[in-house]
Amino acid sequence: MPKLNPRRVPFRRLQPAERRRSFEEIEQGYSLEEALAEAERCLRCPARPCVSACPAGNLIPDWIGALSEGRLEEAARIIHLRSVFPAICSRLCDQSQQCEGACVVGKRGDPVAIGRLERFVGDWEQATRPRARPPERRTGRRVAIVGAGPCGMAAAVSLAERGHEVHLFDELSAIGGVLAWGIPTFRLPEPVLWAETSRLLDLSVVFHGGVRLGADLGLDDLFMRDFQAVLLATGAPVPSPLGVPGEDLPGVLSSTEFLAGVKLRGERPAARRVLVFGGGNTAMDAAATAVRLGAEQVTIVYRRSRAELRARPEEIRSAEEEGIAFEFQAVPLAFLADEHGRLVGARCARTALGPRGAEGRATARLLAGSEFELPADLAVLALGFRPDPRLRAELRGVQLDERGYVVADPATGRTSRPGVWAGGDLVTGPSTVVGAMAWGLRAAADIDRFLAEASRPQSVASA
Ligand code: SF4
Repeated sequence: MPKLNPRRVPFRRLQPAERRRSFEEIEQGYSLEEALAEAERCLRCPARPCVSACPAGNLIPDWIGALSEGRLEEAARIIHLRSVFPAICSRLCDQSQQCEGACVVGKRGDPVAIGRLERFVGDWEQATRPRARPPERRTGRRVAIVGAGPCGMAAAVSLAERGHEVHLFDELSAIGGVLAWGIPTFRLPEPVLWAETSRLLDLSVVFHGGVRLGADLGLDDLFMRDFQAVLLATGAPVPSPLGVPGEDLPGVLSSTEFLAGVKLRGERPAARRVLVFGGGNTAMDAAATAVRLGAEQVTIVYRRSRAELRARPEEIRSAEEEGIAFEFQAVPLAFLADEHGRLVGARCARTALGPRGAEGRATARLLAGSEFELPADLAVLALGFRPDPRLRAELRGVQLDERGYVVADPATGRTSRPGVWAGGDLVTGPSTVVGAMAWGLRAAADIDRFLAEASRPQSVASA
């Protein structure tokens, strides 16, 4: 057996100076030769710890095996047994906390670059696959999916491929949800998303954009319109308020407002000094976007230490390479304005870290007398998200927990209201793209069973 190379095949990346001026994707992908060399590092472990660590149960050693033999079509087929969007998930998953974190090879060197290999197969597949066609056998059953993000998209593909008539509703006029409005193109290039949204349309999924549940559409209306099943997948897109003075100043934006404004509306806020509050991928995305818009000084302010940043290691490394500064163990107390009401900075305080709380992360408490000020002409808050509270009134008969999340069976997505399923961040709170996709697939499988069991087309009221 040849000696295992402890180092993975490196990934080509744009140089930081180039990245600061461009929204082009940071990582450039493996060539076939590089992918084959990296695939050789997989040991095909019988215990398959990488599979168990994937929220979707992706059959990793099987498709890496096919890839290492140059059988790309077979590799793509195996990925699709458990996943829908390999080109997207491979770019956005935190593999270091999932499959690659469990990889046996990682104990002796770099783990197998599973995400990058998946990206290679996903990109190859997007470039070569023929246009999707709806199945010839149609069931005549109608399913409504509310929310066109990763959960709703995955369910729509799965249900359409099973011959059901699928209608996808979303507040936005584009398919993709957070993938469309919240992920910058340097992390997810638009053509990669478009390849998946056009596949949905090729499968005859009917998209209704600009429709908000509770305002333009009621849950009961869907059943009146002869949908036999409804999947709620509206996510958790609403920023949680901080509750500090000055939060409503014009120069203080939520990450949702900032990222969607730049990506969807082409806004270019002119700011020289930018503060971004938060420690997850959204904070990294907002900071890197501000750099690309020309900000001279961008600082990420996070309440805990570097070790506890929730962002992917690649995002943190990219931020540091691009000159983004970090203020660890600091929280905002107030946003400060000049006499014209313009943001001039934030008053912050230091934190002391205590024992790990329920989420497994250190608790942070304010240190008395540690206040300091940071100058800024733009502040972006990326500190937590929740479901749209306006939905509550619309979800009669659907049990919610005390935080406003829908209660659903994790195995099936069924809610307390017959005929209504839910999945993704609307149930779990902000999570991963692959996790949301897996919820969509489980709900789709259960909806399909439910529709098959129904002896005749019927309204949900009698289901
Ligand atoms: Fe391959 Fe790593 Fe999975 Fe083992 S744990 S099968 S080496 S990817």
